[in-house]
Amino acid sequence: MADEVNPFESLGEQIDDAAQYVDVSDGMLERLKNPERVLETNLTVEMDDGTTEVFTAYRSQFNGDRGPYKGGIRYHPEVNREEVKALSGWMAYKTAVVGIPLGGGKGGIVIDPEQYSENELERVTRSFAKELRPLIGVDKDIPAPDVNTGQREMNWIKDTYETLENTTEPGVITGKSIADGGSEGRVEATGRSTVLAAREAFDYRDEDIADATVAIQGYGNAGWITADLVDEMGATVVAVSDSSGGIYSEDGFDPVAVKDHKNETGSVVGYHGADEEISNDDLLTLDVDLLVPAALGNAIDAELAEDVTADVISEAANGPITPAADEVLSEKDVLVIPDILANAGGVTVSYFEWVQNRQRFHWTEERVNNELESIIVEQFWNLVDAFEDHDLSTFRVAAYVVALQRIDDAAEEFGPWP
Ligand code: GLU
Repeated sequence: MADEVNPFESLGEQIDDAAQYVDVSDGMLERLKNPERVLETNLTVEMDDGTTEVFTAYRSQFNGDRGPYKGGIRYHPEVNREEVKALSGWMAYKTAVVGIPLGGGKGGIVIDPEQYSENELERVTRSFAKELRPLIGVDKDIPAPDVNTGQREMNWIKDTYETLENTTEPGVITGKSIADGGSEGRVEATGRSTVLAAREAFDYRDEDIADATVAIQGYGNAGWITADLVDEMGATVVAVSDSSGGIYSEDGFDPVAVKDHKNETGSVVGYHGADEEISNDDLLTLDVDLLVPAALGNAIDAELAEDVTADVISEAANGPITPAADEVLSEKDVLVIPDILANAGGVTVSYFEWVQNRQRFHWTEERVNNELESIIVEQFWNLVDAFEDHDLSTFRVAAYVVALQRIDDAAEEFGPWP
């Protein structure tokens, strides 16, 4: 794992690579490589034993030219300012590449949630919501789940906001439970777009995803849903992993049975149907047709990339491949579907949730899934066009070319404040 790679520098490199193909001024490019503002705050929270602890938290609002800032909040001990800035930028380019009218933002709290009780986590979350209140709003900035956060945390933030504002405004946050105004299909959305984009990529290569062998790094929400949906399409999931290690089965796993095992024991490791246990690095270099990194950033660095043998990679995680690794993979003709398209299902269904909240109307799961599918399929082929028209080296550059053009078009409309 390439800890030394600064994700914010990776974002800058990705934008620079695309800028050569877009007519964007130097000043505007500088603006579109940096967040508009970053909140850094220290939350003082009472623990169950009566002591107090301080947690550093961030919210980066990267770009709002195409609509309200949009992006998740993660809880992780390694959250830091540079990472949050990068993640907020990736959100701005992600919402642009799928063409939904939102900007990009991201937040995080430096915390290992496993070390705290539910009551403590609720107080930490509500304290952050109080700090966020002046910044967020249904037309300003709309948070959502990310690593180690989910419906529970979103419900707490919604309730804190609505109580302090003395209103009902469910669209201030997405990824809520259905009872609290959430959308059908939101939980599955990240895995769904990861698989839909992969299906189209196999089609582009004149292959059928049903014949593919698949390895998935990470068995959280995105990883396990990816496993389930790709299995439903007829592919064979031969390897999965989590932070404790991985498992391999030549004949393929039943994703639901592996999920049940993880729920019971805390890990996929030890699952009875495995031929052997493998490391995360073994998994990433397995000879499979489709590789899905669905864990944290910087999972594949240049050195590891030399050993990657998959034909297609669909990035369910944000930033799992370093820019140097991208170059190696491109030389080896590995087709990488970039995170800003592959995992964009999450924010796309968040957008549907926000639309439903504003309409005070609930869509069926079928409608959500159909609308998501049409966006991912259309935008995948849009990237293919950009890739071929400009004779680009990777699909990632194509995605940034499309997104940068869209953000620049919107930003130029407004121009700088006098
Ligand atoms: N955290 C997710 C992402 O990285 C979803 C963000 C959202 O739904 O706003 O795309």
